[in-house]
Amino acid sequence: MNSPAFSKTELIKKFPLLEKLNRQRELTWINPLLSPSGNEKLTLQRADIEQAAARLQRFAPYIAQVFPETAEQGGIIESPLVAIADFKNAVQKNSDAMLQGSLWQKCDSHLPIAGSIKARGGIYEILFHAEKIALAAGKLKIEDDYNILANEDFQEFFAQHSIVVGSTGNLGLSIGIMSAKLGFKVSVHMSADARQWKKDVLRSNGVNVIEHEGDYGKAVEHGRKQALATEKCHFVDDENSQQLFLGYSIAALHLQKQLIENNILVDAEHPLFVYLPCGVGGAPGGITFGIKQLFGNHVHCFFAEPTAAPCMLLGMHTGLHDEVCVQDIGLDGLTCADGLAVGRASGFVGKFIEPLLSGIYTVADQRLYDLLTVLQDSEGLKLEPSALASNAGIVALQNSQEFLEYVKQQKISLQAMANSNHIAWATGGRMVPDEEYQQYYQKGVKS
Ligand SMILES: *Cc1c(COP(=O)(O)O)cnc(C)c1O
Repeated sequence: MNSPAFSKTELIKKFPLLEKLNRQRELTWINPLLSPSGNEKLTLQRADIEQAAARLQRFAPYIAQVFPETAEQGGIIESPLVAIADFKNAVQKNSDAMLQGSLWQKCDSHLPIAGSIKARGGIYEILFHAEKIALAAGKLKIEDDYNILANEDFQEFFAQHSIVVGSTGNLGLSIGIMSAKLGFKVSVHMSADARQWKKDVLRSNGVNVIEHEGDYGKAVEHGRKQALATEKCHFVDDENSQQLFLGYSIAALHLQKQLIENNILVDAEHPLFVYLPCGVGGAPGGITFGIKQLFGNHVHCFFAEPTAAPCMLLGMHTGLHDEVCVQDIGLDGLTCADGLAVGRASGFVGKFIEPLLSGIYTVADQRLYDLLTVLQDSEGLKLEPSALASNAGIVALQNSQEFLEYVKQQKISLQAMANSNHIAWATGGRMVPDEEYQQYYQKGVKS
């Protein structure tokens, strides 16, 4: 798993952009491999997304029963799309930036059960696994009312099986809470610097939390080893899991309904820009896949990464994907955006989205705090620092030369830019304890 030792000097010589990454400059990278026929040759298609959505639908009555907070939505785990015009005004007032189009926030930060975007992929993967083993054991049929999963005999059945995951925090929360609810034995491997409150929430849910010195990569490796050595054990592989990826992609189907409800058109005259915070890549990659399947070339997806951990940019720009990590170019990967503190991107995701992704931009930690405070003051929305990387894009891109060239190259007219819609995908925040949130907020208050 260790990377072949790339020499930093050689990498920078071959890819001059890496010099700026090394100096932690905020920058915008446009993906040269974006293709207008990008949807055609993918190994997953729209039918896969629809099958995955049908699976969540089968589980919906059970979810509504065991997580009463989801009952009102019929056991479907979804989040609001809200207009953030006051945020736009506040940003324009604080700087000379002129922002085009209408701004929206997709509030996965407020998803039920786990309070982050991981409530999509993580929960989907556990449900997929639970269904698979219950079907194989003859305990469940597809036509059954899945409410029976809450019965004691199912708890006993799942207790013979275990789930293991390595996580910076939020994935562990969603996998841990869902697995424990079904009755699985579940272990979450975390790096020692993962937030204490996340470990506390998990332990109070009966999850076995194992802490590791060192970074996320090490936590994942330990998890993988433990899982392989254990019978009836499923390892949730954040870097390679197709189920996680599909779980995220389902978001696009619901977003489509929300766009219609809000009279948001997506066509040549009304381009849609979506800004997605990226860690290992599964969440933003799955959502990009879903959105591109539904809306094609009039939607433009950009990933956001912290300047200290731009692993996807590094992997895609060099074409080395998961063979290279940010430490190879002299970065430490340490950032307040703990959901994005990943040194090595998923190779599976990087390659998959090569023809779909418009670009990636990087954001400094202080900007995340600044925007956290502006968003709280203008819209009353509570997000964690990672999530603000999405809002940062709306501001940063429209003021970047690279983006202006992209707009020209995509033949997006000035009028279309004026009609454009921008969705900042908020990825976490609801569950952050107030005391911790106040500390974030204070760091963004202008003296
Ligand atoms: C996990 C996470 C992301 C990114 O998801 P990846 O699948 O790791 O790319 C973004 N924001 C938050 C808050 C997260 O927890």
